[in-house]
Amino acid sequence: MSLTLSARLNTELSALRDSGLLIRPRVLEAPQRARTRVDGVDVVNLASNNYLGFADHPEIKARAAEYLQTWGAGAGAVRTIAGTLQIHEDFETQLAEFKHTGSALVLQSGFTTNQGVLGTLLQPGDVVVSDELNHASIIDGLRLTKATKKIYKHSDPADLDRVLSENDTEGLKMVVTDGVFSMDGDIAPLDELVAVARKYGAVTYVDDAHGSGVLGAEGRGTVHHFGLEGAEDVIQVGTLSKAWGAVGGYAAGHADLRQLLINRARPYLFSTAQPPAVVGALVAALELVQRDPSLMERLWSNTRYFKAELATLGFDTMGSQTPITPVLFGEPEAAFEASRRLLAEGVFAVGLGFPTVPRGLARIRNIVTAEHTQADLDFALGAYERVGKALGIIGA
Ligand SMILES: *Cc1c(COP(=O)(O)O)cnc(C)c1O
Repeated sequence: MSLTLSARLNTELSALRDSGLLIRPRVLEAPQRARTRVDGVDVVNLASNNYLGFADHPEIKARAAEYLQTWGAGAGAVRTIAGTLQIHEDFETQLAEFKHTGSALVLQSGFTTNQGVLGTLLQPGDVVVSDELNHASIIDGLRLTKATKKIYKHSDPADLDRVLSENDTEGLKMVVTDGVFSMDGDIAPLDELVAVARKYGAVTYVDDAHGSGVLGAEGRGTVHHFGLEGAEDVIQVGTLSKAWGAVGGYAAGHADLRQLLINRARPYLFSTAQPPAVVGALVAALELVQRDPSLMERLWSNTRYFKAELATLGFDTMGSQTPITPVLFGEPEAAFEASRRLLAEGVFAVGLGFPTVPRGLARIRNIVTAEHTQADLDFALGAYERVGKALGIIGA
């Protein structure tokens, strides 16, 4: 007799429960803001990817509402059939200009972008070399390809050189890295990685989900941060769901990239286009970040302040270079307990343990945003001090 669905669900859920890995998402009872409400508690929110405060920004909401009224609630079809509205095309032109790339294409999410772009570009006989800490959506995207897959040590140009030297091909060679790594907040050494890639004639593929809207002039991203914009052998992909405040993904690069993706990328071909309100929000977000330099300034002054104060208290922020600010607790129980105590104190920050991060490196990940005030950060630091001392993570 075959297995029942109940048996399968029960086995899987029991295993998760037993290993303490069962996820129960926290519910926000108010909009996504620097201060919000979680599980009945008013909190300072250090858990979102809302770097620029765009998720609930008045000007962005107004433009989303305007596009909704003018263009409707849905796109009505996939892009290649009848779902490409003028606003989609206009936004992609603006995005390519912003990124200084020959072309740009928008997909439904950062996740589907990695599926679509890696799945399109990589063929049998190609070699793709991926950073060992790359995002799950890259790993899944690579699973869709028949290229030879190799791993290099995290952000290690020498190891990348070794792997490329051992894996020559007549096909395409590609180096794949996150621009900013989401768990440690470190920046990929893109200048060095691209130099190694070029030595072997490889293209470099940068997933800039946590770098776009955060790094580079006006938030143009990690590729700009390293002065590599406009290079034909660099592909930028990313999300429109983090700093940009709405939802979506993009691929930007070589002038012909867009045309090939339109013809081959399966999420583009088989999944419906973004709804107009989302496009309106993104158009406004792109305008706003270029018009108001104080957004990036506040993001970074808040980031520097919060990291420096945590270090003064004695916490280990694990060498993070970006608004992603991990605080090391070591064992998952300690990180989860600290997260619970912080929430009780009115600070929302999520604990992460294995398998999301390596064993022994359980942490709380904080993300500082432009929307936090000094008072918000001081409030959070006060709670961190009390919780850190109570758990013996910092000296009393
Ligand atoms: C968040 C993230 C994604 C997924 O983006 P979504 O738009 O949320 O699907 C992809 N890659 C990286 C590196 C990410 O951090």
